[in-house]
Amino acid sequence: MPPTAALHRPRWRSLALLALLLAPLLWPLQQLAERYYRDALNAQSGQTLDLYVANLLGTLRRYEVLPPILSKLPTLRQLLQERDDARLRDQANRLLGGLQQQTGADVIYLMAPDGQTLAASNWDRHDSFVERNFSYRPYFREAMEGRHGRFFGLGTTSRKRGYFFAAPVREGRRILGVLVVKVDLDHTETLWGDRPEQLLVTDSYGVVILTSQADWRFHATRELDNAERAVIADTQPYRIQSPPPLQLDDAAWLRQGRHLEDIGWTANILTPRSLLDRPVRAAVTIGGAALLVLILLLGLLMQRRRHYLERIALDARARQQLEQRVLERTQDLELLNSRLKQEVLEREQAQQELVRAQDELVQAGKLSALGTMSASISHELNQPLAAIRSYADNAGVLLDHQRSEDARGNLRQISELTERMASIIAHLRAFARRDRHAPESVALQPAIDDALALLAKRRQAMQVELIRDLPDATLWVQAGETRLRQVLGNLLANALDALGEKAPPRRIWLSAQHAGAHVELQLRDNGPGFSAEALQRAREPFFTTKTSAQGLGLGLAICETLMRALGGELLLANHPAGGALLTLRLRTAEHGVNIQPPEDFAL
Ligand code: ADP
Repeated sequence: MPPTAALHRPRWRSLALLALLLAPLLWPLQQLAERYYRDALNAQSGQTLDLYVANLLGTLRRYEVLPPILSKLPTLRQLLQERDDARLRDQANRLLGGLQQQTGADVIYLMAPDGQTLAASNWDRHDSFVERNFSYRPYFREAMEGRHGRFFGLGTTSRKRGYFFAAPVREGRRILGVLVVKVDLDHTETLWGDRPEQLLVTDSYGVVILTSQADWRFHATRELDNAERAVIADTQPYRIQSPPPLQLDDAAWLRQGRHLEDIGWTANILTPRSLLDRPVRAAVTIGGAALLVLILLLGLLMQRRRHYLERIALDARARQQLEQRVLERTQDLELLNSRLKQEVLEREQAQQELVRAQDELVQAGKLSALGTMSASISHELNQPLAAIRSYADNAGVLLDHQRSEDARGNLRQISELTERMASIIAHLRAFARRDRHAPESVALQPAIDDALALLAKRRQAMQVELIRDLPDATLWVQAGETRLRQVLGNLLANALDALGEKAPPRRIWLSAQHAGAHVELQLRDNGPGFSAEALQRAREPFFTTKTSAQGLGLGLAICETLMRALGGELLLANHPAGGALLTLRLRTAEHGVNIQPPEDFAL
């Protein structure tokens, strides 16, 4: 897998490329914004200019009508006819002063046909027009020609810009002089106020006469030809003879103009481009930002889509891996299963073989036991049978010799021998017997007494001392009366057999006590005790250390079988002080009376 960074890089590169491709879209946006804001600015500045022009024209028109009216005043006409009359002059001066006050004109004055000023509204001021000659001004010439004169010019004494309206003063068809009204234009400039747009009013020569920018004043906006220069030099509308050109950076300004037909002027409003550039820049910036956001959003969307696709691919891969793992696991399991089946089969075969082997073993064991048994039985029974045969033969011979008493003795021997044979057979039956009686509550002490009573004669003959250590209270155990008596009888008989091998004193100890849920009966003798081999094998059937006349080796085997059937235990040991120590562990039983009929061995 390539690292994720390598995956991401081309995507950001393509986004940057997209941004580059989309960047030219900002150009039409800029054009649109520029057009929109230019139109808005133009409309706004156009309104401002229209207002200003209306104001300017209104001012001029207000004074335009004054000279023809005032020229009809008799005082003025009189003065023109008697120009040296001081009284008339004074009268005219005061009249014009009053009129100037009333109309708000800058100066009103009366000129003689030679251009000399006879009376003026500013007669009493230091820069008075009285006595001054303005015959060079075009408005004077025009009025003297009988027309209405008008002229823009800088006041020669006041240095104030003014507009001059002149009208001839007539006496019939004769022109007596000229009446002039000068309007102050300086204040129209101040009306403009402090604003970013600039005012630029040019006269018919293209020279700036009114402007909101003081350093633009009296600069020429176009080349002046020689004729124009001559007229300017002649009429002196400005203080300077040849106006310098106006250096205006056209790119920095948005210009809008109005031509004033009546007076031949052009009023311009110059709006700084920066006013347009700022909102256009803002619009382009916003557009650019929006584009950037769009691209980023696109990038984000692409990233999310990519993550989504990656996740789907990852999920698919994980699913595939899982399926692969499941497949592998299934195959493993199938393999394991077939192996298990194989093992089960092998085990079954092994078990069958084992069973077969066991059967064979059992068979062999049975055969071996049968062999041992038949050898013992034939040994046990052949001896008395041989004896019986010889006693019977002897009895025949004795009867032939009329020795009936001796013959009876032989017959008694035969009877005893058959009894012994019956006893041997009874023992074999007892060993082979399957006892089906359920254990019952049996009192231990009476069973011991019974067993002792049966062997009492033999014990006494052998001078065996019996040491009893039994509790007075009856010990109840789970057993069968007959079976218990048989076990006790066997054990006591073995003890007597063992004691027979040694000289007196001969002793047998009998003790019994509770041990948990059991009652333990211990029988000890001071005979030779078990040999090491006997301790190991005494419970095997037909194991004996005695002569065939004394024992069959079935006593302890029978005891063991009976004890097991009763849920008890037979323990063999040697006492540390010498002699055998046999322990019977029997389950404790409820107190009770044996109501069942005594067991019958049917010997
Ligand atoms: P049997 O008495 O016919 O030999 P048992 O099964 O009763 O058969 O006894 C097996 C053997 O255990 C005996 O041959 C003897 O060697 C040994 N044995 C049993 N009881 C005693 C005892 N009290 N003292 C010493 N040895 C004993």
